[in-house]
Amino acid sequence: MDASDVESDLVNILFTEEQIQAKLKEMATQIEADYAGKELLMVGVLRGAVMVMADLARSLHGHVEMDWMAVSSYGSGTKSSGVVRILKDLDTDISGRHVLVVDEIIDTGLTLSWLISNLSSRNPASVEIATLLRKPEALAMPVEPKYVGWDIPNEFVVGYGLDFKERYRNLRDIGTLAPHVYS
Ligand code: 5GP
Ligand code: MG
Ligand code: MG
Repeated sequence: MDASDVESDLVNILFTEEQIQAKLKEMATQIEADYAGKELLMVGVLRGAVMVMADLARSLHGHVEMDWMAVSSYGSGTKSSGVVRILKDLDTDISGRHVLVVDEIIDTGLTLSWLISNLSSRNPASVEIATLLRKPEALAMPVEPKYVGWDIPNEFVVGYGLDFKERYRNLRDIGTLAPHVYS
C-alpha cells in the first residue's frame, strides 16, 4: 500500500481534515442545543456516512445511540432513479425516538427523501437529517436537512467516506480527483 499515490490522485482539496473537524464541532453544538434533555438515536447511512458518524458522534456530549441502514438506489448510469431498496435495516425500534439521520452528501436527494418517508412511517418522535455536504440539485427536492456542513458545487468529490469505485473513502480530506483516475 502506498498512501502517497492515493493522495496524489486528488487534484483539488475542497476541505481539509481540520476544516471538517471544525465544521462537525459547530454542527454538534447546534445539535446539542436543539436536543437538550432528549436522547438521540443517530442513524448512519452506509457506507459513505461512516466517517461523519464517527466524528460527529464523538463531538457530541451526553448519551447517543448509533444504528445503521444500508440502502441501494437504482438508476441509469450515475443518476439515482428514486427506486430504493433496503439492504440492511435498523436493529432499533424507532417508535417514540428522536432520530437523526446522518449522511455525508446529498446529491439529488432521492435516497434521503425515500428514507425519511420510510422512517417517518415507523412513528418516531422526530426525524431530522444532518449531512456534511449538499449539492445544489438537492435544493429542489423534498429533503430539508436541518444540519448542513457545506453547500458545494456540482462536482464529484471523494474522501472522508466518499468513494469512487469503493476507493478513496479512507482519505482524511475531501477533494476532486485528477482526470487520469477516470481514464
Ligand atoms: P442522492 O440520492 O442524494 O442523489 O444520492 C446520494 C448518494 O450518492 C450519496 O450518499 C453518495 O453515495 C453518492 N454521491 C452523490 N454525490 C457524490 C459525490 O460527489 N461523490 C461521491 N463519492 N458520491 C456521491
Ligand atoms: Mg450517503
Ligand atoms: Mg458511492
